[in-house]
Amino acid sequence: MIPKKQFKKGDIIIREGESGDSAYVIESGNVEILVLRHGQHMQVGVRGPGSLVGELALIDDKPRTATVRTLEDCEVLEITRDDFSRRVEGADAVVKMVMRVITSRYRDLMGRSSFVSITPQEDSEKAENANESHDIAVSTLKIHNELKIALDEKQLTLFYQPIIDVQNMKIAGFEALMRWKHPEKGMISPGVFIPVAEESGLIVELSRFALEVACSAVPRLQKAANPGLVGDKPVFVGVNFSVKDFADEGLFSFIEKTMTAGKVNPAQIHLEITESLLMEAPEAAKAALEKCRAFGIDVSIDDFGTGYSSLSYLHYFPIDTLKVDQSFIRAMTKHNASLVLVKSIIALARNLGMKVIAEGVETEEEARIVRDLGCEWIQGFWFARPMPLEDAEKFMQNWQAPAL
Ligand code: C2E
Ligand code: CA
Ligand code: CA
Repeated sequence: MIPKKQFKKGDIIIREGESGDSAYVIESGNVEILVLRHGQHMQVGVRGPGSLVGELALIDDKPRTATVRTLEDCEVLEITRDDFSRRVEGADAVVKMVMRVITSRYRDLMGRSSFVSITPQEDSEKAENANESHDIAVSTLKIHNELKIALDEKQLTLFYQPIIDVQNMKIAGFEALMRWKHPEKGMISPGVFIPVAEESGLIVELSRFALEVACSAVPRLQKAANPGLVGDKPVFVGVNFSVKDFADEGLFSFIEKTMTAGKVNPAQIHLEITESLLMEAPEAAKAALEKCRAFGIDVSIDDFGTGYSSLSYLHYFPIDTLKVDQSFIRAMTKHNASLVLVKSIIALARNLGMKVIAEGVETEEEARIVRDLGCEWIQGFWFARPMPLEDAEKFMQNWQAPAL
């Protein structure tokens, strides 16, 4: 049963900037969509009975991008993210897969269209015509062109998110996450520009840039380390790679050259790649990963469990670490099936001699559960968010480990 909610004229159903976990179907009455521009609310659309508003909340918990205010008394049906996920999970495999693909493309598209919108009018037009391929092409091209400039003008940078060894509560390493400090649009999420860079091939330059910057960060982080806060092994930095990188013949020699020049111990770099990307070009990926592994670099499978690949690939590729996707961590405290899955992934990894990183741990309860299941490493907002290098150095000096 979907709960029904009543709102009076002038009530705010959704507030821009806040996070929310519900979408609303309007049953009666009209609402206006407002966006804040230059400190002022501007109306960019009106929606009536039968419309869906706030649907991005069903996909993720990013801040709302617009305010929805009633123009008269309204009745709405509230669809929560949990309810929506339960329905999708309960659907048959084909519906589930189609929903996943559509929602991830929609997220991508909304991210890109917000990048090109300059005026509220354009915002509203983009929202109305979001399914037009022309829009996608324009957004993609614009991001691509600006990204090339960004690379030359040093607008790209890496943030570092700590990875904690929860068996001894020491800092094991960091993941390097790219940020784009756009001169007009502010900080842009990699969720917007990485997919474009992957499509256009620019990702190869971005990955090389990330590796160089991460290699220069390794000695700084190690030097900053308070000996009481780190374990016996050197601190590592995980760098994200794309499968397109493996099509680049010169990748491995670039990695070798960069690490040798920076005098970085290969064990201090972890190469992260998602399982779905691996399956796109398995042979090229295998050859490249084997070279990296032989050189001493740890190979981690990112977002483990979200691809549609067979488990047999775990034997096919040289893999040291599995990163359990955050969607399982999020669902684990609510659904027993997800808990069982996390438990099985950790057991599977142990039996295959791999390490496990639980990603996206946001609460003490989640941290405790995965620790008790035998997971060694945890990464998530509960410990720390991604931060600039200077802050990561301070973290290495004076992190206060919470009781767990
Ligand atoms: P990812 O590799 O799975 O990275 C983890 C993402 O989860 C990061 O998002 C991080 O900020 C976020 N995260 C970490 N802990 C928590 C938590 O407790 N709760 C929640 N809700 N989120 C958490 P971010 O930085 O926005 O990066 C998004 C994705 O963009 C990355 O996902 C990765 O696929 C891609 N990406 C980022 N940097 C690079 C890069 O340098 N190269 C490539 N190829 N991809 C990158
Ligand atoms: Ca990653
Ligand atoms: Ca991940």
